[in-house]
Amino acid sequence: MNRDRSRILALLRGGGRFLVTSHVNPDGDSVASQCAVRLLIESLGGSADIVNSHPVPRNYRFLAGTSRFGVRPPRTWKPYSAVIVLDCGDARRASGLLDPRPPLPVVNIDHHATNPRYGDLNLVVPDACSTAEIVHGLAVSLGVRPEGPLAEALYTGILTDTGSFRHGNATPRAFRVASLLVATGIDPARIAQGVYESVSFETLQVLGTTLAGLRRTPDGRICWIRLPYTVLGKLASPAESEEWASYPRSLDTAVISVCFKETAPGQVRLSFRSKGAVDVAALAARWGGGGHRNAAGATLQGALAAVERTVIAAASRHLGRS
Ligand code: 5GP
Ligand code: MN
Repeated sequence: MNRDRSRILALLRGGGRFLVTSHVNPDGDSVASQCAVRLLIESLGGSADIVNSHPVPRNYRFLAGTSRFGVRPPRTWKPYSAVIVLDCGDARRASGLLDPRPPLPVVNIDHHATNPRYGDLNLVVPDACSTAEIVHGLAVSLGVRPEGPLAEALYTGILTDTGSFRHGNATPRAFRVASLLVATGIDPARIAQGVYESVSFETLQVLGTTLAGLRRTPDGRICWIRLPYTVLGKLASPAESEEWASYPRSLDTAVISVCFKETAPGQVRLSFRSKGAVDVAALAARWGGGGHRNAAGATLQGALAAVERTVIAAASRHLGRS
């Protein structure tokens, strides 16, 4: 892995043009680490095009450079020296850009423990709180001082993937790197406002009705919300409900929370959250999903009510075993 890290550093130092991407339904860390990698590449004399399967969620559009994110795959791979995939634990989730595999080196930079090292070069650091933290380490090794937009992007990735420094991955290193970034003069209050306080009126109203439909198991250990297709359609974009699985987790008795999103008729996306040692990545893996111990996801086919029954029963058994 150290050898891969050195090769990645050499590749970035070499200039050239890169295609940068991340996982489907990009979140804060994926958007932020893509912005950061592009700034890093540019400061080393190279250039990068960023392409994702979905547009940037509106609460991350305050980050410099997000207006230049594309959603169309390149017509040709010829101009590029490599594809850099960030924060993506599974090649099938790489915004469709690895299927079929491009005729270029694939650089996989990620912090998901379940990442199967699908790249030609792999830098997978499960101890890192976020992909942004790994990119910060690369910047330091490359002699690039994070400041301005680069520091803002790195801080945003760390802030969002640690759930505002509340999750188990809020390690001393996460705080240390965040502190270094804030010391460069960026404004953490402005970033927090951009990320957490730029929700549309309609979305807050939908959140209200969704929370009114909150459900829990009789022992209160599993708590969940549901977003039927028709309701999801009322949001400015489905990405606005990105972190809603945290609401049922905030219930005092809950150790597992789920957000069921009917993203298309007969297709349900699950967002799991858990507290402490309860591993929801293992639970999500039952349906081909994955993620981290305390935050994971999967997609199931079936009607919302049927998926809800199946998943809650499996989550109850999962708790019974752990
Ligand atoms: P979220 O619930 O925020 O969409 O996802 C939580 C975590 O699980 C993120 O780290 C995300 O990358 C991962 N994740 C979500 N859905 C899937 C999936 O279908 N497969 C895999 N491998 N990881 C997922
Ligand atoms: Mn991440």
